[in-house]
Amino acid sequence: MDRLPALLKRFWGYDGFLPLQEDAMRCWVQKQDSLVVLPTGGGKSLCYQAPSLLGEGLTLVVSPLISLMKDQVDGLRACGVAADCLNSSQDQMERNRVERELAQGLLRLLYVAPERLATSRFLDMLRHRSPTGFAIDEAHCISHWGHDFRPDYRNMNVLRHAFPGVPVHAYTATATRQVREDIVQQLDLRGPKLLVGSFDRPNLFYRVARREYGKHGRFEQIRETLSRYRGESCIVYCISRRDVEDLASDLCGAGFHALPYHAGLDDEVRKRHQDDFINERAPIIVATVAFGMGIDKPNVRCVIHAAMPKSIEHYQQEAGRAGRDGLDAECCLFYGGNDYQVWKRLLRRSESDATGAALHKLGEMYGYCESNNCRHRSLVEYFDQEFKRPKCGACDVCGGMRTPRPIIRASRVEAVRRESVPEPREPGIPVEVETGREIGQKILCCVVRIGGRPSASYTASVLKGSVRRAVVERGHDTLSTFGILENEKIRWIRQWIGELVEQAFLERRESSSGVGVTPRGWSLVRGKETPLLTAPEPSRVRTGDQVSGPDAELFEKLRKKRLEVAHIRGIRPYMIFGDRTLRDLALRKPVSEESFLEVNGIGEWKCQEFADHFLPIIRRHRKTAHQKTD
Ligand code: ADP
Ligand code: ZN
Repeated sequence: MDRLPALLKRFWGYDGFLPLQEDAMRCWVQKQDSLVVLPTGGGKSLCYQAPSLLGEGLTLVVSPLISLMKDQVDGLRACGVAADCLNSSQDQMERNRVERELAQGLLRLLYVAPERLATSRFLDMLRHRSPTGFAIDEAHCISHWGHDFRPDYRNMNVLRHAFPGVPVHAYTATATRQVREDIVQQLDLRGPKLLVGSFDRPNLFYRVARREYGKHGRFEQIRETLSRYRGESCIVYCISRRDVEDLASDLCGAGFHALPYHAGLDDEVRKRHQDDFINERAPIIVATVAFGMGIDKPNVRCVIHAAMPKSIEHYQQEAGRAGRDGLDAECCLFYGGNDYQVWKRLLRRSESDATGAALHKLGEMYGYCESNNCRHRSLVEYFDQEFKRPKCGACDVCGGMRTPRPIIRASRVEAVRRESVPEPREPGIPVEVETGREIGQKILCCVVRIGGRPSASYTASVLKGSVRRAVVERGHDTLSTFGILENEKIRWIRQWIGELVEQAFLERRESSSGVGVTPRGWSLVRGKETPLLTAPEPSRVRTGDQVSGPDAELFEKLRKKRLEVAHIRGIRPYMIFGDRTLRDLALRKPVSEESFLEVNGIGEWKCQEFADHFLPIIRRHRKTAHQKTD
């Protein structure tokens, strides 16, 4: 155990453990079964990779995805760790080579897909090599309750039976209790140590906004966000294939290099697009949720949802692909009430027998969008954890982009305000302050006047004073509440209605899209309660902490070099150095091998391999910077 910190430094260049990594590694040393639940980016892989270097034995890693396997093996080799994998994508020669190395005891880690465990030949081979421990990656795949159940994971307890004395360690990012219990039971874990990390991802900035109306407005929101991340990796999620195609081509038209990804594309095209994204030949990928499984790219700086996902679990998964490297990243969610209906239709159409539960999750997701609670808190509490900080400092709510505040606006006198603001006013002088309470009252009164549970969008039209045919035909243009919010954007009115639903002043019934006033709503009409309504405004989010000044220039040079070296070696750029390491290099500007080794993420192996590529660039950069200041 004492040797681990030195191994971390030597092979990975890390100066210490991330939370719970040390405890997780101790389970390997003490030969105790374990279940480790850490969020994406929590550093699960190191928990089994580092202990594999302690003894002579073999660590067997079961992993569901071939692409992930290859990534991990490449990453380990780039650090100087002897690792390999066996899977169906290899040809016979390749497999023979790996088997030979395995038999000769040359490998520390072997990655396999679960179906391999079903062959007795493989199990015999393992017996000869006496494994010291089994690591089950993405262990939630074993559970029906998880979000990507895989039948061949059910077969996993053959390991337990074939090797009763060898400890089993399971790793997942899925936090629900059901999944956890299922893993323990299915894998037949014995008195496992349960380690559950915090689900908060403090480096992610969450932002949620209603989608602008019209194709142009919607596109503008996405364009504005992406333009803050020029040249950096970003993912944009859409619900339908058509939206993916449209958006990708619009983005290209606006000068972005964006590639589409969805299940309807040719296998080969899809794979090429994914590779171009991972290898940083294309910074932006526009995708359906089909994209992401098996993508471990650590330096995704922004994940945009162009529409609402279908559950908070899915949102957490998809948005969680941002900032795995622990550096700042942004998650933007643009939604509209329509998304709810679209998903509802899709869910109804799907065969799933769990439609009731799925609709419930959809409702929770919508609630999250409309909510005025801290996003970090909402997500953490959703996964049954406590959020201890009063404010997160990294979401639209805490950042004051949605904070409830009085809305100052000039508008005409009308029925509701006459009741609540009785002072006489001179004509032409702007009304001083309209509070959320007044707006809430107006909306509720309008719902009551229209009668019969109108839909949110219809109510908004009446409030806005729209002379849509439907409104006129039903005579709602003669209501006293018609046009009572005519100076507000319809998008805002829709948002406020959503907020009133979220705060239980209005209710929405499962069976219809209509809204009705609740008892709490009636107390608001009587002036006894006040909702928290927000004035959405186009707002700027922090720009991600980019390296500034001359360092930015050096960072770019180093990034280019990284791409070049990666290309030559045929590995992913981030396997050479992560963004954090590049940034550290651009900050410290080491010129000697000793100081190069001090940089986070550079171990002995990488120093030997890459110092000659990167040091000259830093030296040259320092020299020219020096000349400039002279
Ligand atoms: P997970 O599998 O839990 O999503 P990873 O194993 O991919 O997480 O690790 C996430 C990131 O954290 C990677 O970029 C990895 O290099 C980095 N990392 C892991 N352990 C450490 C550590 N002890 N110190 C610094 N960085 C670490
Ligand atoms: Zn917050």
